[in-house]
Amino acid sequence: MTQFKILITDGLDSTGQSILRASAEVDDRNNISADELLKVISEYDGLIVRGRTKVTATLLEAASRLKVIGRAGVGVDNIDLEAARKCGVVVVNAPMSTTLAVAELTFALLLALAREIPRADAGMKQDKWLKKELEGVELNSKTLGIIGFGRIGAEVGKRAAAFGMNVIAYDPLISEAEIKRRGAEPVSIQDLYAWSDFISLHLPLNVQTRDMIGPLAFSEMKDGVRIVSAARGGIIDEMALVAALNNGKVAGAALDVFGQEPPGLTDTVSHPRVIATPHIGAQTIEAQSRASEDIATEVLSALQGKLLRWKVN
Ligand code: NAD
Repeated sequence: MTQFKILITDGLDSTGQSILRASAEVDDRNNISADELLKVISEYDGLIVRGRTKVTATLLEAASRLKVIGRAGVGVDNIDLEAARKCGVVVVNAPMSTTLAVAELTFALLLALAREIPRADAGMKQDKWLKKELEGVELNSKTLGIIGFGRIGAEVGKRAAAFGMNVIAYDPLISEAEIKRRGAEPVSIQDLYAWSDFISLHLPLNVQTRDMIGPLAFSEMKDGVRIVSAARGGIIDEMALVAALNNGKVAGAALDVFGQEPPGLTDTVSHPRVIATPHIGAQTIEAQSRASEDIATEVLSALQGKLLRWKVN
């Protein structure tokens, strides 16, 4: 029987590696450069990436044996899906594995914003007792507007309800009845902007959503709104965000994702009222183990011609 060859380019938890190695030959080349990848890709039947590796049309043209690309996580914006489809390469992901990790990080960011925890900690480490300056706000009784009420958005909604928040959601692709069933009040985007004390983004980045949170959106929001994004960089227009922070429209923002990653010391990252984390939404032991297990199983299923659960293209 032919032994399938699989290349892993952005690391993979040991759970998934063991599943793969039981049925295939596996090369784990974490951090391989784009040039090197282009040279070796023709040797492989399967490729497993996370967000770092860019799977371009040029790479796919060179990948003469490739049958499947697995994304150990959710976002596939680093993979040229159309080019993969044209080359007959199936793309699969592991959409369920990281939901709770991102929902919990979102909650950590909401609380950190409300109570300025990073500033409090930084002060302590400089021997400054900022007690009087650090008067925060409570989540209880505030309105949380969730944009994108899919897997992660709905889990954030549940946690917000437990904190006594009034949860409203905008999602044009889900029925009002389903949004209600998932525990939020369905609203238009204008009402969400007008009513929310906190806004959390949980929608994908695409041509419709790029720069969606820009000058017009900010102008429709409540004064003093606080914004969290652990979705995708590019949905928030970062220049418009800095302007809205500087003119007082936005009281604070917590961002796990950026238009360019790593962003460096941009005006957004270095803004005193921005809490920034380096795209750690899915970075928990549990999520990485689940993602690696799900993607290893799915990639092997694709190579063995079995039914797929999470085909993207
Ligand atoms: P999902 O597909 O379950 O939910 C996304 C929802 O967004 C869907 O219900 C969809 O109908 C809705 N949507 C699409 N276009 C919209 C629009 N224009 N306005 C409002 N809603 C819209 O996806 P998910 O698993 O919940 O992931 C949500 C986001 O989180 C994605 O952007 C994903 O890439 C991101 N994510 C980030 C991390 C991280 O590390 N920070 C990890 C995993 C996922």
